[in-house]
Amino acid sequence: MRLLLVEDDVGLSRSLKTDLERAGFAVDWAADGEVGEFLGATEHYDIVVLDLGLPKMSGLEVLKTWRQTDNHVPVIVLTARDAWHEKVDGFKAGADDYLGKPFHIEELLARIQALLKRLHGRMQPQLSGSGITLDEDTQTVSVDGELSTQLTAIEFRLLRYFMLHPGKVLTKTHLLEHVYESDSDPASNVIEVYINRLRRKLGNDLIATRRGQGYVFGKSA
Ligand code: CA
Repeated sequence: MRLLLVEDDVGLSRSLKTDLERAGFAVDWAADGEVGEFLGATEHYDIVVLDLGLPKMSGLEVLKTWRQTDNHVPVIVLTARDAWHEKVDGFKAGADDYLGKPFHIEELLARIQALLKRLHGRMQPQLSGSGITLDEDTQTVSVDGELSTQLTAIEFRLLRYFMLHPGKVLTKTHLLEHVYESDSDPASNVIEVYINRLRRKLGNDLIATRRGQGYVFGKSA
């Protein structure tokens, strides 16, 4: 899952980035509204955490610009505490949820997970399909009910992305975008390497290669 954090408070951003990465997100950070708006318009994020009070361009303007150009990326806005009008303005501008500052990271994570589940139509903390169950809280995976080894951060991100899009052909570039931060520069074969690791851990027939196209998750694929 790829997440964009738009927040000008450097200290808060650093700690949020660390916690969000630990929770399995590839996090890009923008410190002002202009950069945030640009990234959100040009990159494909699964979710955005957007502060409203930002230099150069306010969070509300950023959000309005995206929505006017039919960019419906899920957005959680960070508002000043007790500023009810900010919440109203945020929803009017097209926010999916809000969180008042200061907040506990656990609450932000819970809201992110709830929003993603709402959008993907899921109610359980686990993702399942093709005999595989992925527990997002513990980042562990089981195969046909038997507990398997713990996944590394990248394996977890990759498998979760596959499981959210079963039966769909996903290109290497697309997978790379949703698993890595944009400022990292992974080797070009990194997706193949991780797919092979997942196959070794979970079974060879789980992720099919479509030559010249990409990869498909699911045993019926
Ligand atoms: Ca701010």
